[in-house]
Amino acid sequence: MNRFISAVVAGVMVAGASYAGVTEDDLKNDQTITNQVVTNGMGRHLQRYSPLDILNKDNVKNLVPAWAFSLGGEKQRGQETQPLVYDGVMYITGSYSRLYAIDVKTGEELWQYDARLPEGILPCCDVINRGAALYGDNIYFGTLDARIVALNRKTGDVVWNKKIADYKAGYSYTAAPLIVNGLVITGNSGGEFGIVGEVQARDAETGELVWTRPVIEGHMGTYKGEESTMTGTLNATWPGDMWKTGGGATWLGGSYDVETDTLVFGAGNPAPWNSHLRNAGTPTEGNAGDNLYAASRLGIDPENGEIKWHFQTTPREGWDYDGVNEVVAYTDREGNKRFATADRNGFFYVLNREDGAFVSATPFVKDISWAEGIDENGRPIFVEENRPGNPADAADGKKGEVIFASPSFLGGKNWMPMAFSQRTGNFYVPSNEWGMDIWNEPITYKKGAAYLGAGFTIKPNYEDHIGSLKAIDPDTGEIKWEYKNDAPLWGGVMTTAGGLVFTGTPEGKFIAFDDETGEVLWSFQTGSGIVGQPITWEMDGEQYISIISGWGGAVPLWGGEVAKKVNYLNQGGTLWTFKLPKQLASAD
Ligand code: CA
Repeated sequence: MNRFISAVVAGVMVAGASYAGVTEDDLKNDQTITNQVVTNGMGRHLQRYSPLDILNKDNVKNLVPAWAFSLGGEKQRGQETQPLVYDGVMYITGSYSRLYAIDVKTGEELWQYDARLPEGILPCCDVINRGAALYGDNIYFGTLDARIVALNRKTGDVVWNKKIADYKAGYSYTAAPLIVNGLVITGNSGGEFGIVGEVQARDAETGELVWTRPVIEGHMGTYKGEESTMTGTLNATWPGDMWKTGGGATWLGGSYDVETDTLVFGAGNPAPWNSHLRNAGTPTEGNAGDNLYAASRLGIDPENGEIKWHFQTTPREGWDYDGVNEVVAYTDREGNKRFATADRNGFFYVLNREDGAFVSATPFVKDISWAEGIDENGRPIFVEENRPGNPADAADGKKGEVIFASPSFLGGKNWMPMAFSQRTGNFYVPSNEWGMDIWNEPITYKKGAAYLGAGFTIKPNYEDHIGSLKAIDPDTGEIKWEYKNDAPLWGGVMTTAGGLVFTGTPEGKFIAFDDETGEVLWSFQTGSGIVGQPITWEMDGEQYISIISGWGGAVPLWGGEVAKKVNYLNQGGTLWTFKLPKQLASAD
């Protein structure tokens, strides 16, 4: 299970790191310490922006592979990890809950940990993992059977292994954990099984729970083993007992804004998908059918798990528009401290960083059909006839009216992280232009069974592309440039002070764009589809870039008319590392 091979790596002393173990300061300053990457998001505000400019628009054409690493074995499937780099070692997670430590200079494996997964795990959307977290001498990652594991970063030995939730009830875990002030903070996955979304904080050294915060109203939080406060107000926005299996999976993890000392986690779709069963299909006075805090972003106090604020992107949600997409803290061109998030529902939101209050929302995909827009309070202006119909109104009571809704349930943007450039002040958003036929059906909750009450067929909106990388001005919502891609985009984005934007495609290309024009400046065929997340760092005065290649994730699991755009793509599992050789840094 735990294959220890070798662990002695010479830690090279470089300014900014002494390698005595990852500290809170390392995490806090991850963006500016350019010889290591110790957080998911290249900084806990998730900007995915590097101040490195050794590699730039002029010399990126000279970027070449330094080494490649195969994840090996028969376990391929989607590779969505973001690598970490610390003390001469690169850490990646792989499909089927694996973690690898790799010599960052040579690409040789140092050790590998394979979680022993039980029969009967219920991952909804491929056997992926999105990355690990470093703190002290430990590395942490979550497994598909809803556990969180701490390993010694040098040896791969298990330090502790704790259960987040019951995998038999549909819980799993795929996000990168978040470390803040010595706490390991995790969400959960399983929103299609009627689970209850929750955020948990553990002591990083011992794994003991410090607090828990369910994100669906009516459930009780805990603090140091005792009940703390109820989330929301019982039955304020949920009818009857529906809140007990109300969904809201916190499956993409969270971000941390050090300036307001706030964790920000998103909550997924309310369960079941059939909104009529949650009284959300009927317009009501006030917010009676809103189903808080599903499809919302929550500001949480990291000390005790209390909710500071919430912003619900899709009240009365009925299209699987999870509210989990990453919230990025940034400062706008006028110096205002903001959050930005590009929601599954197709709108790009700007919020006030202090209290999560709504600032603006603009569409970032074409053809949004479920809402006319977002009003001055941040609430959608619904197109009522674009809500899938109530099966109770059908003659046979079994299938509600079918409607065509856009975006599709996979969203204008899904999990794949956008990036913010401090150089241009723009966001770079990996989006998809697709819709779906969707209808509702009756459903009752059964532990461990899919809890949708809906059926769907996903469809491209355009012949020539689904994927669309967009440069968005957050102040105006203006789309500055767009790169269209045939297959749906499913990989993360990164920006650099060298004026570059990196992302990958399911067709296997890893691409560097000009951040101002969208011109393709460089690309490399990685051999399988890219659904991973790029990073960059510097070593011995040279700039390196890494990306994992390995097609999979949610897209190939759903057929419809999207299948013909992706069903020829080959699986893989290779981590690529590129560098700009010193002698080519100033070459023409
Ligand atoms: Ca969902």
